[in-house]
Amino acid sequence: MYKISTTQLLRKVMHNYFQRFSQSPKIAWCTSVGPAELLRSFGFEVYFPENHGALLGTTRQAVDYIPAAVKCGYSGHVCSYTTSDIGAYLSDETPLKTHYGLEKIPKPDLIVYNTNQCREVEDWFTFFSRQFNCPIAGIHPPRYLDDVGEAEVELVIKQFKQIIPACEQASGNKFDIDRFREVLKLSKEATILWQKVLQTAKASPAPITFFDGTIHMGPIVVLRGTQVAVDYYKTLLEELEDHVSNNIGCLKEEECRLFWDGMPIWGRLRMLSDLFLQNNTAVVASTYCNSWIFDDFDENNPFESTAIAYTKIFINRSEKAKMEFFKRWILDYGIDGVIFHDSKTCFNNSNAKFGLPQRLTGETGLPTLVIEGDLCDTRFFSEGQSITKIETFLEQIEGQKAYL
Ligand code: SF4
Repeated sequence: MYKISTTQLLRKVMHNYFQRFSQSPKIAWCTSVGPAELLRSFGFEVYFPENHGALLGTTRQAVDYIPAAVKCGYSGHVCSYTTSDIGAYLSDETPLKTHYGLEKIPKPDLIVYNTNQCREVEDWFTFFSRQFNCPIAGIHPPRYLDDVGEAEVELVIKQFKQIIPACEQASGNKFDIDRFREVLKLSKEATILWQKVLQTAKASPAPITFFDGTIHMGPIVVLRGTQVAVDYYKTLLEELEDHVSNNIGCLKEEECRLFWDGMPIWGRLRMLSDLFLQNNTAVVASTYCNSWIFDDFDENNPFESTAIAYTKIFINRSEKAKMEFFKRWILDYGIDGVIFHDSKTCFNNSNAKFGLPQRLTGETGLPTLVIEGDLCDTRFFSEGQSITKIETFLEQIEGQKAYL
């Protein structure tokens, strides 16, 4: 059976990351595509509530906690990271206890969000700012952009700089541009390595799938800006490159290569991964795992480059710009079909609501499939129906290939 042995190291890296919170450092909370490097430059340990949301999803505990958030006014139809995270807090429980030995989620000294991904994070983080009586600061970049121009970048730079006084006050440290440059350099190094890791899946058979990627992306989300993340991705890349040169992949031979758009269905990762592999299909690339590639980072120009990188991300772009991303990925990864996960509670990271799949098929000739589900709330996912849809889709692709 195919294995990525660096997964053992991943457990250790994530465990060590969480252990650091129990040593009572200054802690900043941050959105997953937020200004983590700036926060780290002040010496904060950075905690990412979305990572906690994903853990609530993978452990399938989210559905137990969502009702508690609904009871205090959060709709069951908004982001299930938000509702399950708030619900778990209100229930005074966390999977961090069983998995990493933390009694509670880390208490913040400062909360920072970036609405480049969605406005939900502002409401979510504001809830905790009230609960912990903790200062909160936000970046609000222009959204749904065709292109990221000078005016947008200028605005975001200004907003980055405006959060500095709050960082100084909460950390007790003065802003140090050289430290910011150092952190950014490490972050860039890690993000480029992560990009290379994902790109090994251009090979057939691919040594890593979307499902593996959702696990191995842990350090690029929570530890970017550290040497630990750089070292981790060096090790992972080395292993995957070795697999490629020995022609070893998740499948011996791939009959079909797919692209996954949208959020993972955290509570059904294993089931879906097995389903595709049983059908000799590799899901080789995704919008999701690509979200943590920030190749614009430049330590010589730290504010401008972080403003560009965090505003240019896929989720913050117009459908016109997203179409170009898709076309490039399809060519780069030799894709036979695209699956769009239409996530019930994440409107922002679902791209099947305004005809994009149909337009993509029109422009590329590739078949697309929309499956309904959710990132954490498994009540919105019908397993039987989805399996039938996916298997029919794979037959359709096979049928099309037979006529080529
Ligand atoms: S992008 Fe979606 S899943 Fe992520 S925080 Fe926003 S609404 Fe939730």
